[in-house]
Amino acid sequence: MNRKFIPLSVPNLKGKELEYVAHAIETEWVSTGGPYVTDFEVKIAEYVKCKGAVSCQNGTSGIHIALIVCGVTMIDEVIVPTLTFIAAVNPVKYIGAEPVFMDCDDSLTMDVNKLRDFCETECIFVDGRLINKISDKHIKALIVVHVFGNMADMESIIAIANKYNLIVIEDATEAIGTFYLEGKYKGKHAGTIGDIGIYSFNGNKIMTTGGGGMIVSDNEELLVRAKHLTTQAKSDELFYTHDEIGYNYRMTNLQAALGLAQLEQIEDFIKVKKDNYDFYKNKFQGMPGLRILDFKDSIRPNHWFYALYVDKGYALNRDQIIKYLASKKIQSRPIWGLISDQKPYEGNQTYKIEKARTYLEKIINIPCSTNLDREEAEYIIDCLKQPEVV
Ligand SMILES: *Cc1c(COP(=O)(O)O)cnc(C)c1O
Repeated sequence: MNRKFIPLSVPNLKGKELEYVAHAIETEWVSTGGPYVTDFEVKIAEYVKCKGAVSCQNGTSGIHIALIVCGVTMIDEVIVPTLTFIAAVNPVKYIGAEPVFMDCDDSLTMDVNKLRDFCETECIFVDGRLINKISDKHIKALIVVHVFGNMADMESIIAIANKYNLIVIEDATEAIGTFYLEGKYKGKHAGTIGDIGIYSFNGNKIMTTGGGGMIVSDNEELLVRAKHLTTQAKSDELFYTHDEIGYNYRMTNLQAALGLAQLEQIEDFIKVKKDNYDFYKNKFQGMPGLRILDFKDSIRPNHWFYALYVDKGYALNRDQIIKYLASKKIQSRPIWGLISDQKPYEGNQTYKIEKARTYLEKIINIPCSTNLDREEAEYIIDCLKQPEVV
């Protein structure tokens, strides 16, 4: 059988994408000025139930702007996770600030116990400022990432942040649609619990605008400033006066046209993601050495990415599986190399990184597109049932 390549995660554009994009082209509103952009901002804010949203070119630029509007500057430090995509942390360096790397827990999100220990034992809290004993610098903010669409422990994180006056920036680039089902933040979406949150609409995310992002917040002041900075900081439209250094980060009408069509389908996408996740999970139950990591029970996850944990009980190790699946035309990949191990971060402080390293060695991501059909999922399972060294 001449089998089609099964990709890891690709866009699903079977809704009104073409119709809306065609409309943008027919009306010749293709740049940042069109009506779809504000419409998309309003609809995202409605969907995640927050005060407002500001569009941007991608998740990375959104994190960059979030750091600026939260007042983080080159004299500050920011606590960040080491196990995530590097774009969560690079913006800290864009503004000349320095990251301090934290470990993950078994949910792959930030280990809150280590975070608390770090603040308590490695820092001093004076005049409302958390000072890092090693660098003598002010730790002003933390960036928390909701890895793979799971939710970090926001109750603990907000409690720690309140105690030490830390601004909380939520990198919810992978987690649009994830929300709490219970607890203090019942009903609250990932990205709307801290001071400011960011979504990404990159091609591999659960919904896509080709490339794009969104900043969300309940703080009107932050939103106004974010809009200002993403649109060249123009304080007078006619005379082109600018009161600070701005950026050309606004989303275009073409991107927003795609985004609106995608947003109409997000609940369907989440349903498909969950069905496929449940299917895999059941099948792996009978296979020694392989299991799919859980999402937390306290949330409705968006089930964006599936993490397959490879134990010693399985015939192949992580890299052998990736090679084997590739030989069967199935794409899979290891999770990210730790950010604190990457060259640009060689000199930066880390705090007891342990679990992140273990998970890095044990996990692969397997196909999770909303286009994945049941026959393909069956085929992937069948292949993993008969492992071969290739
Ligand atoms: C995708 C992603 C980003 C960056 O989003 P882009 O839209 O690709 O710039 C940032 N952080 C994490 C954790 C991501 O997965």
